[in-house]
Amino acid sequence: MIIYTNIILVWSIIGQLDKISRILNGMLKTMNSVKPPRMTALRELHEAENGSPLSILIGTILSARTRDENTSAVVKKLFSRYKTARALASAKPVDVEKIIKSTGFYRVKARRIIEVASIINSKYSGKVPQTIDKLLELPGVGRKTANCVLVYAFDKPAIPVDTHVHRISNRLGLVQTKIPEETEIELMKKIPREHWIRINDIFVMYGQNICKPISPMCAVCQIKKDCSYYRTKFSS
Ligand code: SF4
Repeated sequence: MIIYTNIILVWSIIGQLDKISRILNGMLKTMNSVKPPRMTALRELHEAENGSPLSILIGTILSARTRDENTSAVVKKLFSRYKTARALASAKPVDVEKIIKSTGFYRVKARRIIEVASIINSKYSGKVPQTIDKLLELPGVGRKTANCVLVYAFDKPAIPVDTHVHRISNRLGLVQTKIPEETEIELMKKIPREHWIRINDIFVMYGQNICKPISPMCAVCQIKKDCSYYRTKFSS
């Protein structure tokens, strides 16, 4: 009986693994068949020569409620002037505000990033910490930001859950959750660790281009068969 249960468990894990690979590949195929998507802001910062952990952290803070292309441009401009945590820590808020104004909520964001830079400079000798617990101690850094830093700055497995990851995971039926924090916990249980690092990147691009909040492009979507939302909406 125990052996039988174990076999079922192994098969269900393999089934889940196949499903996740199929979903990720299907998303990439769909996006490429429609129009190859623009990289996300964080991937762009990761790929850029100056994509330092500090710029990823500050970029994630600045990305709240602004467009991706705007985030990348502002981060580049900010780091061309303030190259280190020490330089940013001693910046005048009014100067930082001028550079980041287009990202919205610029006064709050300017104070926040100077404060974060000061802590990194004084407590961590200018180096962004590499553990989730230490990142979460920084002011204004929540789980999404901390996980983004782990993935995009340090290539560590984590699942940053933003609005796109939360919405698509629920539509697919991978999770049934109300808030992103619950989604992160459920996804970590269900998705094999080797896929974690790709989830945010692919789901965010899919959410921006195909599985949009309103009017998802189900007609062109190649993962319909794995989607609970599609089955519920279009069965009958
Ligand atoms: S809601 Fe539509 S676009 Fe989104 S995953 Fe399901 S079938 Fe694809």
